[in-house]
Parts: sequence; C-alpha cells; structure tokens
Amino acid sequence: MGAFDIVLVPCLTDNYCVLLHEPISGETAAIDAPNAAAIKAALAERGWRLNHIFITHHHTDHTAGIAELKAFYGASVTGPEAEADRIPGLTRVVTASTHLSFAEHVINVLETPGHTLGHVTYFFPDDAMVFTGDTLFSLGCGRVFEGEAHMMWESISKIAALPGDTNLYCGHEYTLNNARFAMTIEPENEALKARVTEVEALRAAGKPTLPSTLNVEKATNPFLRPQSRIIRARLGLEGAPDWQVFARLRQLKNKA
Ligand SMILES: [Zn+2]
Repeated sequence: MGAFDIVLVPCLTDNYCVLLHEPISGETAAIDAPNAAAIKAALAERGWRLNHIFITHHHTDHTAGIAELKAFYGASVTGPEAEADRIPGLTRVVTASTHLSFAEHVINVLETPGHTLGHVTYFFPDDAMVFTGDTLFSLGCGRVFEGEAHMMWESISKIAALPGDTNLYCGHEYTLNNARFAMTIEPENEALKARVTEVEALRAAGKPTLPSTLNVEKATNPFLRPQSRIIRARLGLEGAPDWQVFARLRQLKNKA
C-alpha cells in the first residue's frame, strides 16, 4: 500500500473533485463527480484510469459526472444508503457501519446529516485525511438545507473529534468568502488573521486553499468555535449551549 498522489480538480464554478491515485496498484478514486469533462481531462493528463467514485451527497453539483465517468471507465460508484434513491448510478451503498477501503487504505464512513439528510463524510485514518463534502468547509460550513441546526452541529462535531492533524478536503472553494464572514465574528483572533492572509495569497496566485487541517479549522473557523467567549459575547449568547451559538452563526452567515 503506497501513499496517494492527490489532485484537486476544479469543476463548475467553485466545486472540487479530489482524485486519489495509489501508485502500486495503479488504482484511482474520485471523491464526488461534479463534471465529467474536467475529471476526464485531469485523469488523461496523468495517464490514470478511474476505478472508483465516492459520493458525499445527492446534490447535482456533486453527482452530474457519474453517468459519463461510469460508462467511460467502468468505475464503481459508492454513496450514502440514505440517498440511494436520489443518486443515479450507485453500485454500492454505505452507512457508518460499512467496512470500506480503497487500494487497501481503510475508509471510515461518518454519517453527517444536515446539509442533506443522508450526507456522508469519508475519513481515511491511515492517511490523515477527511472528505467532508458540503458539511464542513474551510472557515465555514454548509447550509442546513434538509436537516436542522442541532443535527448539523452534531455532524460537524463528529468531524471535529477526528485527530487534529487530519487534512480537510471539502466540496467547494468557498474559503475567501467564508473568511470575510469569519472576520466579522472574531476579528481579534490572531490565528484567523494569519489564515486570512494565507488564503488571500493563495487565491491571488490562483491556487486552492485546501487542504486545511482540523487543527487550523478549530483555531479559525467560527462554526467550530461556539465555545469562544468572544463569539458568545458578540452574539449575546453567553450561557447558551454550543449548538445554539452554532445555529445563530449559521443564520447570520445566511444573511451575509
Ligand atoms: Zn450540496
């Protein structure tokens, strides 16, 4: 089992597909499939064939490429059991109790509902990386479309409980926009200021802001910091449970 070569493929306006290539077996997997043409081009450029697709949730900007990629490469398609009826082309469904691996690398499935009710997150414990789809973003989190704020907070807490050195890959390049909101919530945060400077430089150079790490996110992402006294005081929620602080932050971001 070799270390993965990892490629972030920009798709559509601001989506990412992540390609994982294991050089010993020659196998390649894609996390989400926003756009077949962009993914095929990235694979062809490297001489890779696609063996597996792992889908986080049913939204079209994560699934539109499945049919063409499956037909072209004969790739298997794995996705959440709870959304099997909404994701065309699945060949395997998963839940939190599924034993899953790719190229002999273990994958733990986390059920992370809220953005959608069946959303799953893929955690590779031996590779220190997690693919959070539209649940947790760098400096932000996904909108709560199908679930409720409390559910989303529980899901985000599952991700936050993973080892701090875990590399975070998410479904969108929203970091700069998220940074502007985060600075309205906790402008005193030195770690946040440093991350914003880094993110601005990366985007100015046309580079992805991912991966981040969970340690960086816990120090900078307001949605992982409802325990912060400064945030609580700013929102007037000093005595509230964490999930209510989270819920207020999400409401404010929706209006930002
Ligand atoms: Zn989505």
